Order: sequence, then structure tokens, then C-alpha cells
Amino acid sequence: MSQKQINIAIDGYSSCGKSTVAKLLAKRVGYIYIDSGAMYRAITYFALQRGIIKDKSIYKPSLLKALPSLHIRFKNNEKGQVQTYLNGENIEKEIRTMHVSAHVSQVSAIKEVREKLVALQQDMGKEKGVVMDGRDIGTTVFPDAEIKFFLVSDLDLRVERRRAELQAKGIQVTSKEVEDNLRKRDYIDSNREESPLTKAKDAIEIDNSEVSLEVLVEQLHQMICDKVNELCVKC
Ligand code: C5P
Repeated sequence: MSQKQINIAIDGYSSCGKSTVAKLLAKRVGYIYIDSGAMYRAITYFALQRGIIKDKSIYKPSLLKALPSLHIRFKNNEKGQVQTYLNGENIEKEIRTMHVSAHVSQVSAIKEVREKLVALQQDMGKEKGVVMDGRDIGTTVFPDAEIKFFLVSDLDLRVERRRAELQAKGIQVTSKEVEDNLRKRDYIDSNREESPLTKAKDAIEIDNSEVSLEVLVEQLHQMICDKVNELCVKC
């Protein structure tokens, strides 16, 4: 896309296929893909490693004290896959475990954690040309994003998708464990005080339950092109 660059926000519940779609769209339009969930996972991983989360409780003062020293970056590996780094260490594999998934929504509900990560995400998108997926991208991170999608999908499909993803990474889990985790995260993410998961008023809702990935990406790509053309006509 050689025209005006925009920011593309993709929000939705856990395992609705946001990151797969976002990555493919970013590649297609030559934009940078940013996985905002990986950033919340990185902080959760840190808190678990340091014993800041114990017996399902978070010792908030220790987390807040450590926050300024946490530096999260993304870098591509030799296969062109985005990897998450925390203070110089590649933690991409570690942040995808069920252990991190089980605690991430509690950590991401903390105001100071959100303030830090939202500021970082906004900085990453300040030059535009970003496709970012998450829970509050269209509402809080980029409320002015030129195009916003809100993905929805059947729970059964979401469960199977996540289970297959984990299995491909060598993590064995039952459908029940995955379903419980998705339900719990959706509940906490939607009901927290700080930027809860909600569809932005101007987001386009897309149900991807019955459409192939190829068709979906094609449809969203067309909408993005239309938006870019519309903006160029106006500017
Ligand atoms: O996208 P992913 O499932 O990896 O996100 C993990 C968790 O991070 C979510 O369940 C949510 O608690 C948190 N998150 C968030 N805001 C975002 C992205 C993720 O609160 N923008």
C-alpha cells in the first residue's frame, strides 16, 4: 500500500482468531503487526517467575516497584516470526503457556500495568502503519484508528482453535481446561474497571465462525483498501 498509512485496530474475545488475521493483514498491506496481548503476558510471566504471584494472589507493591525496569520489545526471528523479548530475553515460548494464561487477566486489570503498556502501544503506533490486536485497541489505545474490527466467533470453535495451537507447541490440555480459561479471561477482561473489553462504537463486527481464513482476510483487506482510498479522496 503506497498511499496514506493508517492504524488498524482488531479487538475481540480470547481466541477469536485475531492474531492470525492481524498477522496476515499486516503482511498483505506491509504494515507492522503488534500483539498487545503478548505484552500483558510478558509482565505476567515476570510476576510468576519472581514469586510476585503466589497462590493466585498478586503482591501488587512488588509488581509496581518492578514495572519501570521492565522493557518489552518485539523482534523477528530468522523465519520472520515475531518474538517477544523481556529485558533482552526471548520469552516467546514461555508466555504462551496455560500457566501464564491462567493469571494474565488478573495482571492486565491492574491500572498501572495498563497505563505503562497503553503508553508503549501508542508510541509504537504514532507513525501509523500498524495492525494491533487486543482487547482495548479501538477504545483506548487508538480511539482514532482509521479502521476498527471487532471479531467474534463460536465458543466451541475458539476452544478447539486454542487447543490445537497449544498442542502444536507441545502443550497438552483438555478442551475443558481451555474452555474454562477462555470463559474466565473473557469475564475478567470484560468486567474490569480499566478499559474493559468492549466493542468500540465505530468498530465493524465480523463473525468469523463460518468463513475460511482466506476469505476473511480478503474481505478485511478490501475494507482497508476502501478506507485508505476514501481518506485519500478526502485529504
Ligand atoms: O491476546 P491474548 O489472548 O494473548 O491476551 C492475553 C490477555 O492479555 C487477555 O486475556 C487480556 O487479559 C490481556 N489483554 C488486555 N488488553 C489487550 C490485550 C490483551 O487486557 N489490549
